[in-house]
Amino acid sequence: MKPTGPIPPWFTSEEGMLLIGGCGAASLADEAGDTPLFVYDMNIVAAQVRDLRNVMPPELSIHYAIKANPFAPLLEHMVGLVDGFDIASGGELEMALAAGQSPDNISFAGPGKRDDEIAAAVSAGVTLNLESEGEATRALAIAIRLGRQPKLAVRVNPDFDLRGSGMRMGGGAKPFGIDADQAAALARRIIDAGADWRGWHIFAGSQALDPLALIETQAATIALATRLSKEVGASPPIVNLGGGFGIPYFPGDSRLDVRPIGTALADALANRAPILADTQFALELGRWLVGEAGVYLTRVVDVKDSQGERFVITDGGMHHQLAASGNFGTVVKRNYPIAIANRFGEPAAAEPVTVVGCLCTPLDRLGDKVALPPVQVGDLVAIFLAGAYGATASPAAFLGHPASKEMIVG
Ligand SMILES: *Cc1c(COP(=O)(O)O)cnc(C)c1O
Repeated sequence: MKPTGPIPPWFTSEEGMLLIGGCGAASLADEAGDTPLFVYDMNIVAAQVRDLRNVMPPELSIHYAIKANPFAPLLEHMVGLVDGFDIASGGELEMALAAGQSPDNISFAGPGKRDDEIAAAVSAGVTLNLESEGEATRALAIAIRLGRQPKLAVRVNPDFDLRGSGMRMGGGAKPFGIDADQAAALARRIIDAGADWRGWHIFAGSQALDPLALIETQAATIALATRLSKEVGASPPIVNLGGGFGIPYFPGDSRLDVRPIGTALADALANRAPILADTQFALELGRWLVGEAGVYLTRVVDVKDSQGERFVITDGGMHHQLAASGNFGTVVKRNYPIAIANRFGEPAAAEPVTVVGCLCTPLDRLGDKVALPPVQVGDLVAIFLAGAYGATASPAAFLGHPASKEMIVG
């Protein structure tokens, strides 16, 4: 048997049926009309935002990085919950605007913005987080052509990274942002060109579970923003401190304690340099806000034995939930939390089973030698932590199976 990550503690059951947002998993699958399906509980998302606001200094803005989950009904909810959206493509710009987010509260990062995406962003009045000198040149030229004053921030490739980060996005040579030693000159150039300079965007990494690592990174980020602003000789309207808050996917992981981060950040902001006195600070979070709120439900199509091992074969797989198969940003496959939704809380069978998807590739493994109650065809498998980087971060077209359903509850 191999261990699985922890099921988020708030998931309960009624008569053996997993409840998501108070609804039985089987009824949700009926309501959706078919499996597989992603269910996102907006009560959990709202609780995350509330918990974060309770511990963070009141002047801090909370932004949602919509690439984590851009499902339209979820985005519409998020507009009312957070202070802004961070987007990373022209497509996400359309989604953010369609959800009702104000362009004033949208910022657009991403290393390969095409001219048409820059033009759409400048026309809409969203802030571009510039990733390079070349992008700045194009953005300024496009703004002149459109007769608009562009809102431009400088994304800095910091000279440090987030310790214990699952995915490093700063420190060393990177396609993201402009190196810290060139950032001030670029900001000066933007200001001199007559653009509306919006400040700094400094994102150092993702998926950290150690509060001390995040505290260190935020302190280093504020110090860097201070140093760069002094070099420019101007106060940045906004410093986007990045995010990097992780969630416990795997055995041995525990939930990130955000309280010490809030205390340290309040302290750091209270003692900030005068050049940042009027600056607005923001955190941009994706998975921490939505990841734990999602469950992927897939139905058992077949159960078979091969050379003494039992395989549970489902109608879902890595084409919907790539991350759970261990093929998205992880080197070794480790088991996400998993359960049989209609046998929730039943004791495990004597022998472990391997849960696979329906794709004809050995990569499509959702649970490797996991302890589950005795499984039958027709049962519903629940894979937790499916709220972020699921449906839209998976190769949906691979092997021609239908797309998953998605719904929000709560
Ligand atoms: C992906 C990304 C995020 C969100 O990361 P999470 O790990 O989901 O919180 C935030 N900011 C930027 C610039 C990103 O690229």
